[in-house]
Amino acid sequence: MTAMEPLRVLELYSGIGGMHCALRESGIAAEVVLAVDVNTCANDVYKHNFPNTDVWPKTIEGITLEGFNRLSFDMILMSPPCQPFTRIGLHGDVSDPRAKSFLYILEILPRLLKLPKYILLENVKGFEVSSARDTLLHTLETCGFQFQEFLLSPTCLGIPNSRLRYFLIAKLKPESFYFQSTRQILTTFPHSESGRPQRCCGSGESLKDDSNTVRVEDETTKASPGASSANTSSTQESILYKLETVKELERKQNQDQDVSVRVLKDYLEESIQESSQYLLTPKSLLRYALILDIVKPSCRRSTCFTKGYGHYVEGTGSVLQTAMDVEIDSAFKSLEDLSEEEKLANLSSLKLRYFTPREIANLHGFPASFDFPDKITVRQRYRLLGNSLNVHIVAKLISVLLR
Ligand code: SAH
Repeated sequence: MTAMEPLRVLELYSGIGGMHCALRESGIAAEVVLAVDVNTCANDVYKHNFPNTDVWPKTIEGITLEGFNRLSFDMILMSPPCQPFTRIGLHGDVSDPRAKSFLYILEILPRLLKLPKYILLENVKGFEVSSARDTLLHTLETCGFQFQEFLLSPTCLGIPNSRLRYFLIAKLKPESFYFQSTRQILTTFPHSESGRPQRCCGSGESLKDDSNTVRVEDETTKASPGASSANTSSTQESILYKLETVKELERKQNQDQDVSVRVLKDYLEESIQESSQYLLTPKSLLRYALILDIVKPSCRRSTCFTKGYGHYVEGTGSVLQTAMDVEIDSAFKSLEDLSEEEKLANLSSLKLRYFTPREIANLHGFPASFDFPDKITVRQRYRLLGNSLNVHIVAKLISVLLR
C-alpha cells in the first residue's frame, strides 16, 4: 500500500455507524470497505446515512477466515455487545452466546494472511475487569500489537453528557504510538506534543459515575421505583420527595458550575413545543418523579442515555425542565401531603420533557447531516442511540492511533 491509498476499514457491530462518523471526523484518508451488524433496523439507518458502504446483515461468526482475508483490511473499528464479563460471572461469560462473536474475532485475528495495522474497540465500563478483555490483550500481544486502554467520558471534551466507556487502541509493531503507552488505563487523552496536560472528567464526575453504564442488550422491564428499592431499605415508595443525597446534589451543582463544559442549551432543538409528544405523561410523573434526573438548558451535565430512554424512566437518562419560571424544589415541596391532582399539578408545572433523539445525537457528536429514515420510530431511535457511542471521543482516539 502506498501512502496515498485510503485505509481499508472494517466496521464490526456497526449499528447506526457511530464509528463511521468518527472516522470521517478524524479526517484521515479511509474507506469503510464493509460494515457488519445483525440488526436490520440499525442497518437501515446505516445505509440511509452511508449509501455507498456495503453492509452485511449477518452475524460476524458467519464470516469465514477466507471471507475476512478477501476483504484485506488495514483497520478494524468495533463495539462488541458486551454484557460485562465479570470475573465473578466467569462461567456464564464463556457460555453467553452474545460473547461468541467477539471470541470468534479473537480466534480469527492471528490466522489472517495480513494483520490489520490498527484496531479500535469500544465497550462499556466493566469490560476492563472481564475475562474477554484478558483474552483480547493476550491475543494482541501474541500478534505483535502495541496497545493502550482508556476510560473516557464525553465530559472530557467539554460535552455535558456522562457516558463513561472503555476504549482500546492497538497498533501493529514496528509502528508505535507517539506517546509512551502504559499498562494503566488512561482516563485522559495522551499528552499532546506541546506537553499541555489534557483534562478529563468534568468536575464532580467520578469514574464510577453512571449507574447505567451497562449496555443492556435484552429488554429488562423496570417495573416501579419500588422494584429498585429492594436493596435500599430506607426507600419507601410512598415517600414523594426527591430521592437525592446531599452528596449527589453537591456533585451535580459542581458539574453545573464547571464552565469548561458547555451548557445543554447548545445541543437542544429549538422547535420542540411544550405540547409535544416528548412531554412526560402524568402517569410517569406521578410514578417516577422522585427518581428522575432533572436538568435545565443552563445545566452542564446529563446522565448517560441508554436504549430504554423515553420508554423506561428509571436510570435511562436525564429529562429536561422546560418551564424556566419554576424552581424544582417548589414543585417537589411537601408532595406527600398533596392529593394526586395537586401532586400532578405541581409536577406538571416543571414541563418536563424527554430529550429528543436528535438532541441525543447532538450530545453524541453525530453531525447535523446524520439522519434517521422516516420509518424508524422514535422508540427505535432511542434504542439505537442508546447503543451507540460518542463520535467526538472516537474521532479523537482515531487521530491518536494514526498519529
Ligand atoms: N457502535 C455502534 C453500536 C454497537 S452496539 C453504533 O454506533 O451504533 C452492538 C451492535 O452489535 C448492535 O447493533 C447489535 O445488533 C450488533 N451485534 C450483536 N451481536 C452481533 C453478531 N453476532 N454479529 C453481528 N452484529 C452483532
